[in-house]
Amino acid sequence: MMLDEVMKNNANFVKEFEPKKMSHIPQKKLAIVTCMDTRLTGFLEPAMGIGRGDAKIIKNAGNAAVDRDVIRSVAAAIYALGAEEVMVVGHYDCGMANVDQEKLENTMKERGVDEKLLSDIDLKDWIGAIDGEEENVVEVVEKIKESPFIPEDVPIHGLIIDLYEGKIKVLVEGNITQLH
Ligand code: ZN
Repeated sequence: MMLDEVMKNNANFVKEFEPKKMSHIPQKKLAIVTCMDTRLTGFLEPAMGIGRGDAKIIKNAGNAAVDRDVIRSVAAAIYALGAEEVMVVGHYDCGMANVDQEKLENTMKERGVDEKLLSDIDLKDWIGAIDGEEENVVEVVEKIKESPFIPEDVPIHGLIIDLYEGKIKVLVEGNITQLH
């Protein structure tokens, strides 16, 4: 199991590591909503110039905002942790843009998920499948902006990164006086 490998790696890490105290407040006063894609690990942060302690990073499949959890985390970043700007960062070639509903449903059934449960929900919607990477970023920016829990004085930007070149494009430039 990977657990053994991780624990071994951690023992080596701790030996080398020099402990230092850091604040839980994001130094760049920034919250980022992005995808859980493995290729963004150790890639998105340097591409944005973000280091350890700089930003709150909220990750999920397809940088979606299908449930209250993303809004809750963004709200916590703003009200409890001092974030003053939010960036939704999508990426091209997102796995959530190519979800095969039938395949997914069959796999879940095979793994023991109740058939009735699956027939009662819109599975693609539930899992956060997206129709297009750019459209999704714009939509999620709108959803966060429209939430009554998010203040109007926090700019919500929408960005997208190219996983191969590392280039970031701005799709939505948020401003301070957003009208809901
Ligand atoms: Zn993705």
